[in-house]
Amino acid sequence: MRASRFFISTLKEAPSDAEIVSHKLMMRAGMIKRLGSGIYTYMPLGLRVIRKVEAIVREEMNKAGAIELLMPLVQPAELWQETGRWDKMGPELMRVKDRHGRDFAIQPTSEEVITDVVRSEIKSYRQLPLNFYHIQTKFRDERRPRFGLMRGREFTMKDAYSFDRDVAGMQVSYQAMFDAYVKIFTRFGLQFRAVAADNGAIGGTGSHEFHVIASTGEDALVYCPTSDYAANMEAAEALPLLVGRAAAAEALAKTATPGKTKCESVAEFLGLPLARTVKSIALTVEKESEGEVTKENWLLLLRGDHELNEVKVSKVAGLSNFRFASEAEILEAYGSVPGYLGPVATKQPVNVVADRTVANMADFVCGANEEGFHYTGVNWGRDLQEPVVADLRNVVEGDASPDGKGVLAIERGIEVGHVFQLGTAYSAAMNATYLDEKGQPAPLQMGCYGIGVTRILGAAIEQNFDDKGIVWPDAIAPFELVLCPMGYDRSELVKLETDRLYAELQAAGVDVIVDDRGLRPGAMFADWELVGVPHRVVIGERGLKEGNLEYQGRRDAEATAVPAAEMVSFIT
Ligand code: ATP
Ligand code: MG
Ligand code: MG
Ligand code: MG
Repeated sequence: MRASRFFISTLKEAPSDAEIVSHKLMMRAGMIKRLGSGIYTYMPLGLRVIRKVEAIVREEMNKAGAIELLMPLVQPAELWQETGRWDKMGPELMRVKDRHGRDFAIQPTSEEVITDVVRSEIKSYRQLPLNFYHIQTKFRDERRPRFGLMRGREFTMKDAYSFDRDVAGMQVSYQAMFDAYVKIFTRFGLQFRAVAADNGAIGGTGSHEFHVIASTGEDALVYCPTSDYAANMEAAEALPLLVGRAAAAEALAKTATPGKTKCESVAEFLGLPLARTVKSIALTVEKESEGEVTKENWLLLLRGDHELNEVKVSKVAGLSNFRFASEAEILEAYGSVPGYLGPVATKQPVNVVADRTVANMADFVCGANEEGFHYTGVNWGRDLQEPVVADLRNVVEGDASPDGKGVLAIERGIEVGHVFQLGTAYSAAMNATYLDEKGQPAPLQMGCYGIGVTRILGAAIEQNFDDKGIVWPDAIAPFELVLCPMGYDRSELVKLETDRLYAELQAAGVDVIVDDRGLRPGAMFADWELVGVPHRVVIGERGLKEGNLEYQGRRDAEATAVPAAEMVSFIT
């Protein structure tokens, strides 16, 4: 590629709406251009990175036995109604009508369509297992689109869907995808961690998220440096680590900061919509038995996905019986009415006694107490927008692991991939069956597997930048190497050497660009440092007279003189 015939358009300043470094740098490097909230044009430089990410994903998916197809962007509402997601998805699902007034969804993901394909194509167990994938545009009308490609409304995802005869088969397919993800993220050259996750509203039995480690990540990860244990915060909190240990609620109560979601009255507390508001609550419960009062601390886990307008309450063992005292009772006993909501977020059902779908606190409380428990109001609050790490670190650090092999640590991550064991949630709803050996119809066991292709760009930059700009890992850099001739249009010597090197590097398979735009060295270097091309070779007359070129890696403090004749082998 010759820079004079490519499109490069860099900016000194990032636009003011760019909050985090990857968004700022992508805008400044001219990789993306904003069209509307969460909607971007992928400019030529950005698109090159996207294509490299896609190529690696495609290669590893194919190697793992997944088969590529391409499903439509615009999908009939009827399919989404079959699984109930037309209603459940709420406003995040983008809906459009055609000229006949028929409803359609713009795909946020494609479980319905692939299940529809499979239910009409798959007849027999002999056709299984199968795994289909596509790399396709998605639209999610995110409540808060932000951070550029990191949380866009329109974005690209690779989504794969496996179909098996039984649970054991599904688990084999799941493991194959898990292993492929490890290969993919390793090839990207990113530092990442796979963590146990909750299935949330999608349902099913097992799930892992893949996170790129970055301090700006939206998610908190809990892991053990001396063992294999790793989970996202929600899954970690649901483990015996906190739940079932009375001291945990008390410790949380001590360390937590009173937050923003404080309610002024019990009535307000009870009317509070659970969706979008709170994911769990810590309670101190007083139990009166024959005149004796004992205090117990409990965590109440609210499960669900705030994006789906549905919350399930999972009562943890021992929490099956309680009630909130009336406002009058609390006033009488304590002189004031606390009513903070808890910061602990979990969606994992552990020791669950009962599940109920509820809309607000009142719904939730109405499973009233028969044994005389009293709510005494050890709660605290936090707006869900705020990071939870500070609150939980106090509790989690120094705690043994769930697996008994060490002490837990916390870091932040960006969710770039997610694998789910779906089971029969979709196949049952859509009547997708196959005929087993005995000729009996049985529901297909499914898994689904996503990678946020465009989010990878943001995540990679959050992990790899300096004060000059982006530092792309080689595998996904827009160009691997830039040739910077000093006076391409003025010096015959420089031009000859540059053209020779360019041709030889291309022949050696190096993704190389020559900056033949005739810029001053300072401006030229600044551009490529901002764009983040990982390797640079400077071709200058002075060096050439001694037979040398200058090589500099993007992270190197200084250039290295390399004999011109050896440069290609030095690079490759
Ligand atoms: P998040 O928790 O960040 O909202 P999600 O759990 O809703 O993501 P999934 O449904 O698991 O996302 O989709 C698979 C992958 O798609 C995610 O792991 C992420 O990498 C990517 N992704 C999801 N939402 C977005 C978005 N708004 N913009 C860019 N990528 C996204
Ligand atoms: Mg989401
Ligand atoms: Mg998520
Ligand atoms: Mg996810």
